[in-house]
Amino acid sequence: MGLQGRGGTIQYRSHTRFPGYWRLLDVIYLPDENEEEDDENDDMRLDIDNMSYEELLALGEHIGNVSTGLSKEVIMARLKQRKYTCLATGPCVGEETCCICQEEYADDDDIGKLDCEHEYHVSCIREWLVQKNSCPICKKTALAT
Ligand SMILES: [Zn+2]
Ligand SMILES: [Zn+2]
Repeated sequence: MGLQGRGGTIQYRSHTRFPGYWRLLDVIYLPDENEEEDDENDDMRLDIDNMSYEELLALGEHIGNVSTGLSKEVIMARLKQRKYTCLATGPCVGEETCCICQEEYADDDDIGKLDCEHEYHVSCIREWLVQKNSCPICKKTALAT
């Protein structure tokens, strides 16, 4: 079972087994918009219903340590937050993008900054940090505790 070159079409059905954990998969396997969706190709799916707990753990290790997340209380207490505003003196350059959801920041978006100075939507990075306390871009410790 390889995880490479799947084009983001990994699907899963058991949201309830490890809810937060699968949300992490959501983040990692972003849909590849260049590829047509092919719902009939079952080979492209990761059938976690038939995976053992050990296999799921191994999958987690493949992706990274998923057991070092922060509580939402710690995240909200430590995360430096601000409102995003496009500078009135010029057009939005459009180069500031949340790398978790791939969306450009819009005016009034809530932005959270990690200790490494990387920024994301507060809602996006909060979900990430619940899973693991490291920056998605540079892998440094996201928030000192
Ligand atoms: Zn985002
Ligand atoms: Zn970083």
